[in-house]
Amino acid sequence: MVGTDQRIRPFLWRAERLYPDVEIVSRTDDAVHRYDYGTYGNRVARLANALAAADIGPGDRVASLCWNHHRHFETYFGVPCMGAQLHTINPNLPKSHVEYIVGDAEDDLLFVDPHERETLEALADSEAFESVQQYVVMGDEVPETSLDPVVDYESFLADHEPSYDWPDVDEDQPAGMCYTSGTTGKPKGVEYTQQMIWSYTMSTLTPQMLGITDADVVMPLVPMFHSTGWGFSWAATAAGAKQVYPGPSPDSADLTRLIEEEGVTLTAGVPTIWIDLLEYLETHDADISSLEQIVAGGAPVPESLIRRLDEEHGVEVLHAWGMTELTAIGTVAHLPPDIAAADAETRYTKRQKQGRIVPGLEFQVVGEDGDEVPWDDATVGELYVRGPSVTTEYYRCPEANAEDLTADPGGDRGGEGGEWLATGDLVTVDAEGYVTLVDRDNDIINSGGEWISSVELENAMMGHDTVSEATVVGVPHDRYQERPLGFVVTAEGATIDPDVLREELRERIRADYPKWWTPDEIRFVDEIPRTATGKFDKITLRDAYRDHDVETNLEPEE
Ligand code: ADP
Repeated sequence: MVGTDQRIRPFLWRAERLYPDVEIVSRTDDAVHRYDYGTYGNRVARLANALAAADIGPGDRVASLCWNHHRHFETYFGVPCMGAQLHTINPNLPKSHVEYIVGDAEDDLLFVDPHERETLEALADSEAFESVQQYVVMGDEVPETSLDPVVDYESFLADHEPSYDWPDVDEDQPAGMCYTSGTTGKPKGVEYTQQMIWSYTMSTLTPQMLGITDADVVMPLVPMFHSTGWGFSWAATAAGAKQVYPGPSPDSADLTRLIEEEGVTLTAGVPTIWIDLLEYLETHDADISSLEQIVAGGAPVPESLIRRLDEEHGVEVLHAWGMTELTAIGTVAHLPPDIAAADAETRYTKRQKQGRIVPGLEFQVVGEDGDEVPWDDATVGELYVRGPSVTTEYYRCPEANAEDLTADPGGDRGGEGGEWLATGDLVTVDAEGYVTLVDRDNDIINSGGEWISSVELENAMMGHDTVSEATVVGVPHDRYQERPLGFVVTAEGATIDPDVLREELRERIRADYPKWWTPDEIRFVDEIPRTATGKFDKITLRDAYRDHDVETNLEPEE
């Protein structure tokens, strides 16, 4: 028998009692806001009271379209600890995806950053939004908006008590939710129970994962809508660490200022952020000497980045791989003592790999013959993972569950109990258990850690009446790791000028998708290679254009 279920509330309770004076800092548009865990805990309780007064209770779903700031952090504890479920939505998604996601999740209340309200204004009258009872704008006043009913966050909390009679939430109660981009079909919902978050947080605290302690100053930089911001908010609270929230769209100048002024020791984000930061540091005098470790992942991390941050700035880069379905991180490229003592080349070679499985999870890599591949750093297979923070089903999505999650990847080798998640990532494993990702079994494009659906772009382009065939593949890119490259076959007899067609195709895409989805380059070809089964042969195309330099027209801040 144990005293209580595994749930999130004790993390906050501990921080409030043991670390009431430790600071939580949050960059806003024009200032830096700061308070401590004591005040934070009171505001979380007021939020829980406000939600209860708005008729939110156990089983209800509360969504957010927000960046990383203290108010969003308050929802990370306030919503799940009172028994409801926090559904974090990526504001970078195409509007059609946000519409689908809100409708599918049937969110009851929506928190939204002032800058992101336009997305919701455009969708609020749609059928998908029928479940939404209340909009809360993250600020201390309501900007001009058509959202209705709407209140600002500070007024929402204002009249409520700073203590709450927290319920004994069951560990199986859904506490969080994120949608993951589908390759072809709709985005799929991943629910996180109280227990999944508890076990993920405990694993995060181990030195083999991130080893966060109360001596750390943690800057949760991964957007809090991406796989629960890789769980940083919960783990930093559980450890009683000072936290620094970077606010909306921080650039390299904002980040270096926060690191320097607040003494940040640990932060995390996609490689693009660190590539930009290095470039910034070349021309600006900034002191980032407090920074000990950066967790980089979501997309492959170039070895040059790891090497330069180490050699030029004394910062250790921990390359991590993860997925929404795993709550977040599944492998980290830590060095065990013998490798840490090896020569620099060996160390960088290992650090550049996606890493070793974190404590609490198991993995196996299964080849085409259904057998587990040898750990020889060469044989490729699909990565399967299981463990207490790994989801075993998608929300209301039986077809995807059968297709993407499998109970038994390799006969009975998996042993008793627990389903394995088929990650779709194709990997090799070396003798020490370091996983290297070599490809994905789908053709979704990873632009700086954000996904672009090649299939949706193809459909948009093929809708043009002078296009007979179109395909899009991801090609390697220094800054974004991957960018979309489009191929078009024009319809027979079409006389349209190629430049005009290119522009019209781009306009079609921009009308429905974010600007950064637009292929940087669209090439006209006589035919698109096909596989034996008649599908576009994207592997051949990707291989042929592996060394092709696409000039991106994205500005650094986009
Ligand atoms: P997130 O929201 O964190 O990006 P997703 O679930 O959308 O998570 O994406 C997970 C996928 O991202 C993985 O299956 C893998 O293909 C890719 N990915 C994550 N981390 C890395 C990494 N370090 N290197 C290469 N690809 C990665």
